Amino acid sequence: MAANDPATRAEPSSTTDRNVKHVVLGNLLFQTWYQSIYPEDLVSKDTDRLYVCRWCFRYSCDAHAYTKHTRLCPHRQSPPGVKVYEQGGYSVWELDGEHHKLYAQNLSLFAKLFLDHKSVFFDVVSFLYYLLVYSDPNDPDSNYHVLGFFSKEKLSWDANNLACILVFPPYQHKQLGKLLMGVSYKISSWERDRSLIGGPERPLSEMGRRSYSRFWEDRVARYLLLHGRKAEDAEDFAVPQKSKSLKGLKRKHAHEFMTVQDIGLATGMLTEDVITALKGLSVVQPATPSKKRKSKDWNEATNAGHGTFVTVRKTTVLEWAKSHHMALWDPVKDEGFHGKWAPTDSDVSDGDSNESGDG
Ligand SMILES: [Zn+2]
Repeated sequence: MAANDPATRAEPSSTTDRNVKHVVLGNLLFQTWYQSIYPEDLVSKDTDRLYVCRWCFRYSCDAHAYTKHTRLCPHRQSPPGVKVYEQGGYSVWELDGEHHKLYAQNLSLFAKLFLDHKSVFFDVVSFLYYLLVYSDPNDPDSNYHVLGFFSKEKLSWDANNLACILVFPPYQHKQLGKLLMGVSYKISSWERDRSLIGGPERPLSEMGRRSYSRFWEDRVARYLLLHGRKAEDAEDFAVPQKSKSLKGLKRKHAHEFMTVQDIGLATGMLTEDVITALKGLSVVQPATPSKKRKSKDWNEATNAGHGTFVTVRKTTVLEWAKSHHMALWDPVKDEGFHGKWAPTDSDVSDGDSNESGDG
């Protein structure tokens, strides 16, 4: 299994190799992209329209049976599992594939219509699923929508924080993939042994790679710009176009030495992913320190035999952030987490945990 595209993708595969051509999800009708593995006795090879319950992902080729089900669906009021995150109408629900086997299988069958390669897709028992749900805050009586999900192996030897991610096609291009990736990094930062850092399961699909590269670029850019600052300082950065913000950036930590590993530890990212992000940001310049600038850190690091030195200017990172319309503060908020992941008072006031620095 590989993390797949949450944000963008190319044209659907040719229509001939897809058993289901279109799906009806709630009141939405849209095209499928790939073949799924629906049982042939229930879904024939050339199904033009498959009706899928937007709450439990049960399916039927029969519109009448589908309508009947939606009136009685057991998940009509609330998604299965427990809510682990909520912010501005969006919430994330965690469910165990072992306890919600049929749900997880039906979700997987539906997701496969939009995912290219999934080899062990139906081993739902060893996975946790995180549903991205939207409920209109202004209309609490309206039913919720599941917009996408990610799955995660319960026991991953490679410390993968995510196995598969999908934002359903009608909800793509709204930065929701980044929200799910951000939640996956937050959760893994809290549950991991501090020395064990992971990332999405490899290999990444081409589209997964693009989405993750951008997510990592944002993450590293935020760290470079904001680490050591508290969220209360956010107003300084709210309008980065203002020269005041640039001054603020220059003023603090005029010259600072850090290794790629330092950035990885602080952001919960693998070293290789930090390097991917730094390359993508195109903010790295060859280091040519003047005598005046040669710091104690620099001399110590040189003597310790560390590798190549480069310079990154915060102003260049800020330019990148502006031109890429990056939200300076992480859209995933610590205070949005519920239940076992809810922040404690010490988490909030601390400000020094690996992850809270960029939230
Ligand atoms: Zn249902």
